[in-house]
Amino acid sequence: MTPRKSLIMATMLLSGTFAPLLMAQTNSAYDSQFIEWPTYNGNDLELTVDNSGTHFKLWSPKAKEAEVKLYDNGHTGEAFKVLPMTFDASTGIWSASVPEKLYGKFYTFRINQDGKWLKETPGVWAKAVGVNGNRAAIIDFAQTNPEGWATDKGPEVKNFSDVIVYEMHHRDMSMHPSSGIANKGKFLALTEQGTTSPQGLTTGIDHLKELGVTHVHILPSYDYNSVDEMNLQNNTYNWGYDPLNYNAPEGSYSTNPSDPKARVREMKEMIKALHDAGIGVIMDVVYNHTAENDNSNFELTAPGYYHRHWDDGRYSDASGCGNETASDLKQMRDYIVNSTKYWADEYHVDGFRFDLMAIHDTETMNEVAAELKKINPSIFVYGEGWTAGDSPLQPERRALKENVSKMTDIAVFSDDIRDAVKGHYTDASDRGFATGKPGLEETVKIGIVAATDHPQVNYKKGNNSKFPYAKSPEMIVNYVSCHDDLCLTDKLRKSMAGEPEKNMIEAAKLAQTIVFTSQGTPFMFAGEEVFRDKQGVHNSYNSPDSINAIDWSNKAKYKDLFNYYKGLIELRKSHPAFRMTTAADIAKNLKFDKIDSSKTPNLISYSLLNHANGDEWEEIKVVFNGSDKPQTVDIKKGNWLIVATDGLISPNGGLGRLEGGKQTVAPYSALILARP
Ligand code: CA
Repeated sequence: MTPRKSLIMATMLLSGTFAPLLMAQTNSAYDSQFIEWPTYNGNDLELTVDNSGTHFKLWSPKAKEAEVKLYDNGHTGEAFKVLPMTFDASTGIWSASVPEKLYGKFYTFRINQDGKWLKETPGVWAKAVGVNGNRAAIIDFAQTNPEGWATDKGPEVKNFSDVIVYEMHHRDMSMHPSSGIANKGKFLALTEQGTTSPQGLTTGIDHLKELGVTHVHILPSYDYNSVDEMNLQNNTYNWGYDPLNYNAPEGSYSTNPSDPKARVREMKEMIKALHDAGIGVIMDVVYNHTAENDNSNFELTAPGYYHRHWDDGRYSDASGCGNETASDLKQMRDYIVNSTKYWADEYHVDGFRFDLMAIHDTETMNEVAAELKKINPSIFVYGEGWTAGDSPLQPERRALKENVSKMTDIAVFSDDIRDAVKGHYTDASDRGFATGKPGLEETVKIGIVAATDHPQVNYKKGNNSKFPYAKSPEMIVNYVSCHDDLCLTDKLRKSMAGEPEKNMIEAAKLAQTIVFTSQGTPFMFAGEEVFRDKQGVHNSYNSPDSINAIDWSNKAKYKDLFNYYKGLIELRKSHPAFRMTTAADIAKNLKFDKIDSSKTPNLISYSLLNHANGDEWEEIKVVFNGSDKPQTVDIKKGNWLIVATDGLISPNGGLGRLEGGKQTVAPYSALILARP
């Protein structure tokens, strides 16, 4: 999410003790006025078209008057008709209907609040929009479905620890000339088969298949505010954490933002192509704030209601972006739940990543997960278990990392493993366990056991968290980098300045080996498998493509690194021992070797025992050496297969055999052995 003004503050909030439980059900005196408002949870909000005509229903309990304006065009021209709306006080709904099916037309709402007509708005439930999302569009969704859509389905997920997430931005993946992709920066980029780099290596969807990830996590793809869809020749770039219309796709990713059907159809085509390749699609969703305050669609339809405020009526700002939404109020909670259900139903989306999830309350997140499970049990929901500023929402109600065990079927990112492995995100030059900084061993171990209760992990020595906050490994997403902050390559270049690039590549391999062998769900940032960088720009949310686009010529240049990632992913997929599903299993089957970190820092060694989680291997030995010197470990006698050593990996243990005894582990490297 961007911009990260207050993450240090957020971290302080996380580690602080919780305020005493407050009795009030709302968060401020100001917001208590909204509790009594009537609510409406029908699925016919704002627009429906059926054989009796076109029907509009706007929720706005305190408006004095409301009207619908009908247009021929999505952007210009006067309304050809204005429909007055009638009010139902019991639901807060304003209604209007016409007997025709108005396919191809556009509409806005306008309300009179306290004697003043507010600006026009497409409402909060526009599912199709004109260019730049200012007017809602009336389209026939049946006409947007690609061939075979009725039977389209994402991959079945038995356990969330089986998921391997690849986080990508549409432009990063395809804009660079080396992508060989025709539809650069578009949803359609991932529908192109057979694309290659100048060196003839696969790119695009074929690259994803070759790498072996199970899910792509697409950065915000709903209609966002900051890119002018009428000036796409400017090639403006944005991550998209500035929501405008939550229920329509972003226009700049379509081949024609002025055609409301194009963005819908093309996004579905992308999802269909990924599903056909066996890959699931996770959407990054940002219900926690809106791009605008008073001019947001929320404020223009029901002023005051959807955002939180301090006692004096000022917008509160836990997002660091000017406001925060009020998931604890029923109409907003229902909105989040229904919006995710809509994406799952209409677009067959396989998961949701909640930005600044701790702005939402745990009750809302539980309802989201429970409702989505009814649609598709394979849907994976996870989020950032922190805020970017203080919120009126009581800490014990927030969907914080520390509160993840109060939730069901929700996972959180582990900033523990992220900061411990590669160094802290706030200090570019800070090193981590994998780059030779001592004292982080226990925090890395918290990551390895997915923040579950383990008899050999001392949480008091943890850097970020002080207690086993996850009841199950399926509550944890492990990673070393994402779109935020320095990407792994840039972090290694800054923190290992002066060392040869070879060392950085070995450290990259080690860092990801820690993530991909740890319990929980692994997550990686697109392009790191080809050593992509962002030229040292940490907050590249609006940097040009020259900073953000992945240069696919890197795939040939860093072939060895790519093959290592591919091997790591294959190892994880073929060995369930890395994907245990309960805390009890981890406590029983994962055993750390005794190492005195004060004498031999940057060394961790553990075994996965007892054919863990049904693994064909009786024991897997995993050793990490994060120091810049070789270190020695004592491996018990046995007939061991070598799975990984000195920057090489063979998922089937094809790197030779050894019989135990003293083994040297190269600097910045992992040793993985298996005893069948
Ligand atoms: Ca837009």
